[in-house]
Amino acid sequence: MCTPKLISRKTFLKAGLALAASPLLRYSPAFADAAEVSEVAPGVFVHQGRYEVQSPENRGDMSNASFVVGSEGVAVIDTSGSEVMGEELREAIRAVTNKPIKYVINTHMHPDHVFGNAAFKQDNPTYVGHYKLARALGTRAESYITASKEMMGEKVFEGSEIILPTLGIKEPTTLDLGDRTLLLEPQPTAHTDNDLIITDSKTNTLFLGDLLFSVHIPTLDGSIKGWLALIDQLGQRKAARVVPGHGPKTMQLPEALDPEQRYLATVAADVRRLIAEGKTLSEATKTAGFSEKDAWKLFDQYHVRNVTAAFAELEWE
Ligand SMILES: [Zn+2]
Repeated sequence: MCTPKLISRKTFLKAGLALAASPLLRYSPAFADAAEVSEVAPGVFVHQGRYEVQSPENRGDMSNASFVVGSEGVAVIDTSGSEVMGEELREAIRAVTNKPIKYVINTHMHPDHVFGNAAFKQDNPTYVGHYKLARALGTRAESYITASKEMMGEKVFEGSEIILPTLGIKEPTTLDLGDRTLLLEPQPTAHTDNDLIITDSKTNTLFLGDLLFSVHIPTLDGSIKGWLALIDQLGQRKAARVVPGHGPKTMQLPEALDPEQRYLATVAADVRRLIAEGKTLSEATKTAGFSEKDAWKLFDQYHVRNVTAAFAELEWE
């Protein structure tokens, strides 16, 4: 196992001071604003988001954002939840490499993964996502902007915008970064209807986006049946490591998926039983899945929404 190399603001500042002392090199103050990232495998960097909802203080820094550095260019995988966080991620990339940022990939539509896209416009990358991402983002754009502005505040949200993918992925597709490739695989409806997973060929690192939640309660915005079925398949994959959309920087299959599988299976079983007993949605939201309460962060913020989505899906089966 390679020990993740931590690159913190402090390290940048220290490096900056060392550079300032050198007569040939000048300290670049821009790096002081870089997001904290770790090199989890050679050329693979991950920034870990907080287990919080959007606020002026966290500036939408609530999801994991990654980048992969090849000999010819860089691919960004998710951009965090605001333009200012996207800028910090870009600074972290620039502290590591000057290679062109060729691709900005979004694993799905949620605001905490896409609102940093705008920070990369200056690089003129190809924006990449599941072929259903553009439609989903188009439909949700207005409500995402309104909600994010309200939660983070107008000033923090400034510069953030919805940028639609210019490359939609309908079948497994390979992107070339030089000495390594990324395999992009669109998934059937599960966490959302536009989940995309990415494998780095060189290190066999698998980026699962929000198909994998750890610590942070899963959020259901697609199909609970589809998600449970997909978890069975994903658990059979062989990867050196997986990067969750929320959770630690890396985890191991198949056990990484266990808590999420247990949560979704519990919600589905409870909701099915309550429907069979003739209970209403409002009754279900008071009991279904509450045995999971202590197992997750942000349970109070998302659980009732998950039960509501599961109920709407399962009452018609
Ligand atoms: Zn997310």
